[in-house]
Amino acid sequence: MTISVSGANKRYGDFAALDDVSLEIPSGSLTALLGPSGSGKSTLLRSIAGLDRLDSGTVYINGDDVTRVSPQNRDIGFVFQHYAAFKHMTVRENVAFGLKIRKRPKAEVAKKVDELLEVVGLAGFQTRYPAQLSGGQRQRMALARALAVDPKVLLLDEPFGALDAKVREDLRKWLRRLHDEVHVTTVLVTHDQQEALDVADRIAVLNKGRIEQVGSPDDLYDRPQNEFVMSFLGSVA
Ligand code: ADP
Ligand code: MG
Repeated sequence: MTISVSGANKRYGDFAALDDVSLEIPSGSLTALLGPSGSGKSTLLRSIAGLDRLDSGTVYINGDDVTRVSPQNRDIGFVFQHYAAFKHMTVRENVAFGLKIRKRPKAEVAKKVDELLEVVGLAGFQTRYPAQLSGGQRQRMALARALAVDPKVLLLDEPFGALDAKVREDLRKWLRRLHDEVHVTTVLVTHDQQEALDVADRIAVLNKGRIEQVGSPDDLYDRPQNEFVMSFLGSVA
């Protein structure tokens, strides 16, 4: 599903969190929104999800104007940095939750959950509770839960930000493999240049609510369009 944002503006008082942002996110891509803290990444992601309301501008998903469509009706899976798991439910029940509230047949739910737990490497953890998982395992559970309802679009806001460096690196590789398997159009918010370069096939660089450049990791690295992109990517370790 192609996502298209056109002329998006969002202000908080005098402050422009999004300043006339237009962006095309190709179907099936894994696109990173990369920029320093406060550059508008989360605001843009939340606007795509329908969790933030734009002052002006339009969001299209697969050509349909969804700007005024509620988040529940946008067919989106969302994973935040601090994932709120249902603590009293097992891993299996957490992943099944969205399917159950949609009243899908039991056999279908069981099959889907089995498949997903396999995909995210948690097949042996079905009857554990979230508190019995590591931080990395919990975020993989969150991704399985988001994917359970076959969203058209998967939105990830710094999903690995709270984890330590080694786990983060493993999860990056894992997310890349997962994406190669499920091909769902994915948007990953990160302030970590290395993460964007490692994981994404396209990167949109944000700064002060504006998009500085959009391109493949190679494009950005080899042909930075301006000083900001050059110095921001230049700070990669
Ligand atoms: P990022 O995700 O890139 O760190 P955000 O999109 O969260 O940035 O925020 C962009 C800017 O908008 C920040 O300066 C932030 O302080 C401001 N902002 C975000 N949400 C609100 C809000 N609800 N009220 C006031 N200012 C906000
Ligand atoms: Mg943010």
